[in-house]
Amino acid sequence: MAKEDLECSFCGRKKPETNLLIAGLDAHICDRCIEQAHGIVIEESKQGEAKELSSDLMLSKPKKIKSFLDEYIIGQEETKKVMSVAVYNHYKRLLQPEKNDDVEIQKSNIVMVGETGTGKTLMARTIAKMLNVPLAIVDATVLTEAGYVGEDVEGILTRLLQAADYNTEKAQRGIVFIDEIDKIARKSDNPSITRDVSGEGVQQALLKLLEGTTVNVPPKGGRKHPDQKFIEVDTENILFIAGGAFDGIDKIISKRLNMQAVGFSASKSEDKIERTNLLKYIIPKDLKEFGLIPEIIGRLPALTYMNPLDRETLRAILTEPKNAIIKQYKKLFEMDDIEFDITSDALDYIVNKAIEYKLGARGLRSLCEAILTDAMFEMPESDQDHFTVTREYAEDKLNKSTMSKLKAVS
Ligand code: ADP
Repeated sequence: MAKEDLECSFCGRKKPETNLLIAGLDAHICDRCIEQAHGIVIEESKQGEAKELSSDLMLSKPKKIKSFLDEYIIGQEETKKVMSVAVYNHYKRLLQPEKNDDVEIQKSNIVMVGETGTGKTLMARTIAKMLNVPLAIVDATVLTEAGYVGEDVEGILTRLLQAADYNTEKAQRGIVFIDEIDKIARKSDNPSITRDVSGEGVQQALLKLLEGTTVNVPPKGGRKHPDQKFIEVDTENILFIAGGAFDGIDKIISKRLNMQAVGFSASKSEDKIERTNLLKYIIPKDLKEFGLIPEIIGRLPALTYMNPLDRETLRAILTEPKNAIIKQYKKLFEMDDIEFDITSDALDYIVNKAIEYKLGARGLRSLCEAILTDAMFEMPESDQDHFTVTREYAEDKLNKSTMSKLKAVS
């Protein structure tokens, strides 16, 4: 057969009508059909991915989500419960079949109120790990209104895209954790006060993202630039989790509770109120009083609080979570064939120091590092196969380290 008589076995085009005709065993395929087939392959694999994602999500009932959180996070029962339900509902909303009735399930974005170091970021990280979705952690303090020095709100989505390896589909089902949301609260209760760059304007910009909108995102971040190509990201199905310490909100809560107590039966409700942890009683109105605009509060319907970490919790954080600090050291030493142990006394000592230095859970790691660095430096080359940290050993190492200087400032 003459060359020009060869044809594509898929579309029938003759060789001269194609740019390329590739021969197989018994057939030929042209460049156009290859491209089309390639498109089908990509589409199919995407659908497969989506199916995989949905079956994963379907398995995660609230109790299952909570027990996953339990493996990594000590205490904070109430938040874990609120979080499990919110996340479950969020992904249920995502998986609902074509909207064919009037009931539209709204997003269950979450806001966590609690001191720094109580595990808010850990909570968001653990949820993202469980769902295997990309997570972007952003600090609200760097956000400013478009046009001001700082990061535009769209920058949040750039981070999410990066976390999703620029897979837009994945990013659109991801989680954004906005830390220090309290720092963009309106400074004054009077909205007409001179514009504050980092306050209400940012809240307004953020609101659009929370509501669900399509945003042109600069893939590399930074300022919008006319020649930069944008990626379109729809925030409709992104779960937003906000966290903040809301310093001083306890006074707002206390004031409200006292007022209520005056209005109703004073002595009775007084008795029941746990004065040491007023965050427990937080309601959306308190956030408004603090300076968040009502629209933002409305878009963060799941409101929950974190308990301060007490001695017992700190102690448990050292040893119990799946990737507890002590477990990590055990593994590190084990890799050098050294069996690592730490006495109960030594653990108590570390916890006491974390409290004394006001370091919270974050300090536990630095304390352990200060105590164990010498051993980790010396031991890999020794023939020791066992290492037990006693209280005396911990005390001695810590006294020699720079951390003991913290005493002066605390
Ligand atoms: P936040 O975001 O509230 O400031 P983080 O989540 O960053 O606090 O917590 C700091 C560290 O403290 C975490 O990485 C974790 O190791 C530890 N931590 C805090 N709270 C808990 C907890 N409830 N359970 C386990 N670890 C915790």
